[in-house]
Amino acid sequence: MIINQDIKDLHNELKNNRDLRNKIKYCPLCNSNIADRTVTVYKELIEALYAVYVDCGKNRRHEFAMKEIRHLLSRNNYARFGDLVRFGGLVYKFKTENGKKKKAKYGLNMKRCKEFFSGQRQIPLQIILNPITNEIIDSYYVNINNFPSLLSMLDKDGIYDYEKDLSQQTAFWP
Ligand SMILES: [Zn+2]
Repeated sequence: MIINQDIKDLHNELKNNRDLRNKIKYCPLCNSNIADRTVTVYKELIEALYAVYVDCGKNRRHEFAMKEIRHLLSRNNYARFGDLVRFGGLVYKFKTENGKKKKAKYGLNMKRCKEFFSGQRQIPLQIILNPITNEIIDSYYVNINNFPSLLSMLDKDGIYDYEKDLSQQTAFWP
């Protein structure tokens, strides 16, 4: 019979031992998948992020509920939008004043988005997560040049500059 301490010890060992996790793949105790989890951004999601960035700038806001940007996203991008929180700090989960994260509410770091879309900032294209702790244990960085289709779209119209729309008004912009 397995006693509690053994269970704890094994879970701890699995949490910290990447090789072991990847070797056995499923936790022998709870059967959850414990192998590295890979999350990758893809060009349609990055294109959708650009559309949201432009929308935010034109509406002079940078925080929004998912329902406010639904019209900009395909079904798949809508489902995956929250993943972007993990990729280089362009998107964050909205928090209320007491620090609580709100479901389906996000914000963009407009400055970082502009830097990324103009080629001055890298973001991870792929991250590897420890499925037990949900921590990022590895990431592979790229810049906008790795998304040629987006780049050609930006070339045509130039990168949208939210600061131009911003300078048109005097209201507080955090
Ligand atoms: Zn387990």
